[in-house]
Amino acid sequence: MTFENCRVPAQNLVWEEGKGFNFAMNTLNGGRIGIAAQAIGIAEASLEASLKYSKQRKAFGQEISNFQAIQFKLADMAVKVDAAKLLTLKAAALKDADKPYYKEAAMAKLYASKIAVECALEAIQIHGGYGYVREYLVERYLRDAKITEIYEGTSEIQRIVIARALLDQK
Ligand SMILES: Cc1cc2nc3c(=O)[nH]c(=O)nc-3n(C[C@H](O)[C@H](O)[C@H](O)COP(=O)(O)OP(=O)(O)OC[C@H]3O[C@@H](n4cnc5c(N)ncnc54)[C@H](O)[C@@H]3O)c2cc1C
Repeated sequence: MTFENCRVPAQNLVWEEGKGFNFAMNTLNGGRIGIAAQAIGIAEASLEASLKYSKQRKAFGQEISNFQAIQFKLADMAVKVDAAKLLTLKAAALKDADKPYYKEAAMAKLYASKIAVECALEAIQIHGGYGYVREYLVERYLRDAKITEIYEGTSEIQRIVIARALLDQK
């Protein structure tokens, strides 16, 4: 979107003069908690689909959920989902309490989007060939998860926000 020679009436000024960028950034901070929650939903759906499928699918005469290699994937996914939830709830609690939360929102978004991609990939692996085709939902989970690492600020930008907050505190 570009504006050329565009005059905006004074009454349409966003917030105080010269502070519009800060206002826009504050909006993103809140949005990042929402994207973190979205990523958690995708990660949790990946785990649920994996639990269900691994109890149904038999290989070498038994459910694949009996194999330790599959159990370890399920355990790791569950840990990641819970850790992402706690980070996101922390950011949301700070926001609700009207306390600074931009670093925590960036941390929640960075981590939740990362683990959503990881959980979706593991779900595809657990589904084997079915994970790759559209008959099962998990290939869609991967596509949905990936965008959470991009919009509302990419993961690289979240890391910049977090690092700046850490350095400012010292
Ligand atoms: C499906 C979808 C929906 C969207 N919805 C919205 C919406 O509702 N509202 C809205 O405002 N935007 C929306 N966007 C835009 C989205 O927020 C941007 O695409 C995103 O912020 C990345 O910006 P960019 O595409 O310009 O990438 P770029 O800024 O060009 O980044 C390209 C790459 O360079 C990296 N990079 C850029 N700058 C730095 C830096 N300083 N240090 C290190 N790495 C850097 C990025 O991390 C990325 O890997 C949407 C995008 C998509 C795909």
